[in-house]
Amino acid sequence: MNTLNAYLTSFTTIVVEGGNLSDFFHNNLKIENGENKINIINTLIIDGHIQLELDKEISIKRETILYVFDTAISVNYIPLYDTSYFNKLFYTDETLGCIYNKEESTFRVWSPIAIQIELLLYKNGESQINEDIEVYPMSENNGLFSISINKDLEGYFYVYRVHLDKCINETIDPYATSCGINGLRGHILDLNKTNPVNWEKDLAPNLNNFTDAIIYEASIRDFTINPNSKVQNKGNYLGLTENGIPLSHIKDLGITHIQFMPMFDFSYISVDEKNIIKYNWGYDPQNYNIPEGIYSTNPYNPYCRIKELKFLIQSLHQNGLRINMDVVYNHMYSPTENSFQKIFPGYYFRFNKDGSFVNGSACDNDTASEHLMMRKFILDSVTYWAKEYHIDGFRFDLMGLHDVDTMNLVRETLNNLGKKIMLYGEGWYMNTTLLDTQKACLNNSYKMPHIGHFNDTLRDCVKGSVFEKMDGGFASGKPNMEDTIKSCVKGIFSTPDQSINYVSCHDNNTLWDKINLSSSNESLETKKDIQKLCNAIVFTCQGIPFMNSGVEFCRTKDGVENSFKSADNINWIDWDRKNEFKDVYDYYKRLIAFRKAHPALRMTSETDIRNNIEFLNDTPKNTVAFILKNHANGDSFENILIIYNANKYETEITLPQGIWHVVGNKSSIGEVSLLEVQTSIKLQPISMTIMRSDLNY
Ligand code: CA
Repeated sequence: MNTLNAYLTSFTTIVVEGGNLSDFFHNNLKIENGENKINIINTLIIDGHIQLELDKEISIKRETILYVFDTAISVNYIPLYDTSYFNKLFYTDETLGCIYNKEESTFRVWSPIAIQIELLLYKNGESQINEDIEVYPMSENNGLFSISINKDLEGYFYVYRVHLDKCINETIDPYATSCGINGLRGHILDLNKTNPVNWEKDLAPNLNNFTDAIIYEASIRDFTINPNSKVQNKGNYLGLTENGIPLSHIKDLGITHIQFMPMFDFSYISVDEKNIIKYNWGYDPQNYNIPEGIYSTNPYNPYCRIKELKFLIQSLHQNGLRINMDVVYNHMYSPTENSFQKIFPGYYFRFNKDGSFVNGSACDNDTASEHLMMRKFILDSVTYWAKEYHIDGFRFDLMGLHDVDTMNLVRETLNNLGKKIMLYGEGWYMNTTLLDTQKACLNNSYKMPHIGHFNDTLRDCVKGSVFEKMDGGFASGKPNMEDTIKSCVKGIFSTPDQSINYVSCHDNNTLWDKINLSSSNESLETKKDIQKLCNAIVFTCQGIPFMNSGVEFCRTKDGVENSFKSADNINWIDWDRKNEFKDVYDYYKRLIAFRKAHPALRMTSETDIRNNIEFLNDTPKNTVAFILKNHANGDSFENILIIYNANKYETEITLPQGIWHVVGNKSSIGEVSLLEVQTSIKLQPISMTIMRSDLNY
């Protein structure tokens, strides 16, 4: 007999693949669902597969074995979880997790396949300490297990003991908001006690439009761990609350949003909170709703990480900065050792027909955002961070693994919170089991208004492909890139707030390392000119500019392309470079100030862009020139002429008629006229020139 696959498509339907109809006479078959015998009332062939209709409903709490002659086949339930039958019966919109009150705490956890779930209470946050456990059996209503305990449980730790048909699992609650050391036990607390003074008055600076944002990506650790940061709390949440070099730097630079790399609790196997000897970025989620412990001053004290992160957020808000969070809902650290899989194996992830985990993430497991309770988890989690921690934006890692509907619901949910919360992510096309039309990737961006995508077209055409080390881009003199640059100037999406414009982020070589690889024979001055021009383009294209921390003073990782577990001395921000590359820093700072002063660079609709951007034709090779006209988007300048010259020599360009005032060149960008020109101008080698005029065009 062929290998047979049997799976459940409704509570009374088993589909068998790979079988011959002749083997499926009722007499040859037997179905056992736990202790129960199930009878077949009809056998059909549908789409080439054998479909068995059953006389009663399968209980998914027990394994089902289909015997064909003497061959036993375990029936796979996972396809059932995609069906409306399943959702109708089991989906719940109840609040899950631990709902703490001084008088009574309620716990709710969802697992329709669990036979029983018990709540285990501990006094300690780690399992090495022997103690008496308090065990409370929970009661079930349609897959939702709950219990209320009438005493003040603050300070207790908890896990769930989940009794499944074939095994018993103990696990932390995926909804836990606080934990013991290394995130293995949930902790019960009064979250009000974690609020810094005046937290209720904490407000992010105002943001009118997403295109007003200037995002700066930083790692909590890298930003202050270098001794030359001179802060007390190096590598910690508190480092950036100090009035020291790092905080004054970002304030001076003028960015609007800091995007922190993972600061949710990541796996203790990536970084042991008890002994931080290894470096890891933390794209290894363990507890989505708890801050990471290694960035706190005391990871053993569950309050500490929460309080310190809130204090950081409050401090940054007070200093005029907003905080975006890098979230990684697309996979978890381990396919099997995680709370979802221990509570309801098979539900929260995508699986291949052979039972293996779908691995589009290259991290051995893709979560199933299309499953309603996983989707609910993502919605609940972003809501929790936005409300409890006052987070101002979310950057979705590998967003292309999620589905369009989930991302639109995240957008809608955040809109309903009454403040301007950013939402963007890596919309790469991913090889996962969603239909292509459902993937939240670049090709489907038109289905996801006001959700941003990292613009890899701009990234690669400006500096060269990230996949080919030596490849250069427009800024380093690669020919025939003008048309791609032009399309990026206008923004390549249906709305400008969908384009996250960037040339470098934590992945791949730093911009400076890339330039050193692709333009290795050039002088230091030329390399700095390329470094300047790359982000000059980013900051003058329509969309939302994004920069990797340190790019403003030519950050290097010594050519390490993927530094996710490299040592501190590769990943840290080296503050001494700020002096060394002061001219680059000053240039970036002026670039940011100019963008903030000019709404023409921050248009909010495609119509505005269409009406107000005009390209100059027949410009010399390796140049792109365009006018932002009509006081675009309320700009104080009638016309702004921007010209990128990627040639390594002075290049003359004919100007539209009128008097033009140069306000920006290689060494300066500002509001005042540096030079008045008519008819033509000689552009500096590898430079951006900005001019204004007050004529109508
Ligand atoms: Ca951790």
